[in-house]
Amino acid sequence: MPESLTRRALLGAASALGIGLPVAARADDRLALKGGTPVRRGGWPGWPVIGDNDERAWMGVLRRGRWFRFDSDAVSRFESAWAERLGAKHCLATSSGTTALVTALAALDVGPGDEVIVPPYTFIATVNAVLLHRALPVFVDSELDTFQIDAAKIEAAITPRTRAILPVHLGGAPADMDAILAISRRRGIPVIEDACQAHLGEWRGKRLGSLGALGCFSFQASKNLNSGEGGAVVTSDPALHGRCFAFHNQGFPPSDSVRPAMGCNLRMTEFQGTLLLEQMSRVEEQSRLRSENADYLTRLLREIPGITPQRLHAGCTRNAWHLYMFRYDPAHFQGAPRARFLQALSAEGVPCYGGYGNLNKAPFLRHTLESRGFQRIYGDRIWAEWQARAHCPVNDQLCEQAVWLGQTMLLGSRRDMEQIAEAVRKIQRLAGQLA
Ligand SMILES: *Cc1c(COP(=O)(O)O)cnc(C)c1O
Repeated sequence: MPESLTRRALLGAASALGIGLPVAARADDRLALKGGTPVRRGGWPGWPVIGDNDERAWMGVLRRGRWFRFDSDAVSRFESAWAERLGAKHCLATSSGTTALVTALAALDVGPGDEVIVPPYTFIATVNAVLLHRALPVFVDSELDTFQIDAAKIEAAITPRTRAILPVHLGGAPADMDAILAISRRRGIPVIEDACQAHLGEWRGKRLGSLGALGCFSFQASKNLNSGEGGAVVTSDPALHGRCFAFHNQGFPPSDSVRPAMGCNLRMTEFQGTLLLEQMSRVEEQSRLRSENADYLTRLLREIPGITPQRLHAGCTRNAWHLYMFRYDPAHFQGAPRARFLQALSAEGVPCYGGYGNLNKAPFLRHTLESRGFQRIYGDRIWAEWQARAHCPVNDQLCEQAVWLGQTMLLGSRRDMEQIAEAVRKIQRLAGQLA
């Protein structure tokens, strides 16, 4: 009798007797990577979500022919709506999350010779924004369990040149804002939050991006609120808002023709503004769904030895869930390296990624610091001096252990979450095949 029939007969008998057999006993005995049947064959929820409202609004802007923000009002209506949603006084829309960061740094007058504290576990834009001002990014190591900047190590990295602290809310979960804001107050150094992954996330009931002097958002295509490209700087300080506005508008302030300082053109178009307003109509519901699914997934994954979901700080009252992140321990998968696990999980129908590399060791940093402009500002020993401060051993570990799932997967069903866990359990059970 074929093995599958035996098993089916056994399962029939077991259910007739009311005996629950473990899921694993029913599953394929070969990994999808080795030609077995994938745990999941279907696709995942698509992104972006486009409704009739988006189409009508977008065509409205197109047909009116007023595509420039100062000829119409979609961008300014979005700014008001986003500020209100965050509980902040002001919001300035920008062309991207990166240019939001560049604008926020400009508003704090960060420039050549200054240092800005950043985490090494982040998207390259956080660091590029600092370098574009010819300032130095100073890396403070990560916490292994939360993936966030280790706030306990920030103070030791502060020097008389430190001009700003730039924490990132990694994956949409908050960095330790109690500790970071306390250091900011004690040392008189402003905080810029990189909330580019943290739309509607909260720290003790306050929205991420509204806690520091300035908060930056991205509306790039992958983000939880999306207009293809786009960004915003949020603040409750009218003077900082004015400086941001001027910087993003070639130096011209909102109501004055006198330029206080140089600027750039980082303005958002009406197309982006109108899409964001329409996309905002879904953002609460999507965020609630991601939370429900992510919490359920965490309960399932926590039961699997060797899988450790990102720990959330106690002050996290709401996670924006841009990424679902966990750590993988090969010791519980017969020593299979993470790269092999990622291949196996993808083959089972669960797309996944290894996440960020060691940004503090990226070659572009050396090329930048050894460039003519940087050497003129910092001297020709700058690379060696900077490198001596850039060790982040915990982050090195994190970069080897992390596994990411994208936010759109969290817009699926409970059954989808069960299949993710099922796929991980299957790989664990058949880890011998990963060799
Ligand atoms: C996406 C992102 C940015 C930059 O946003 P863009 O809109 O792509 O320029 C900055 N920081 C972090 C942490 C991000 O995830």
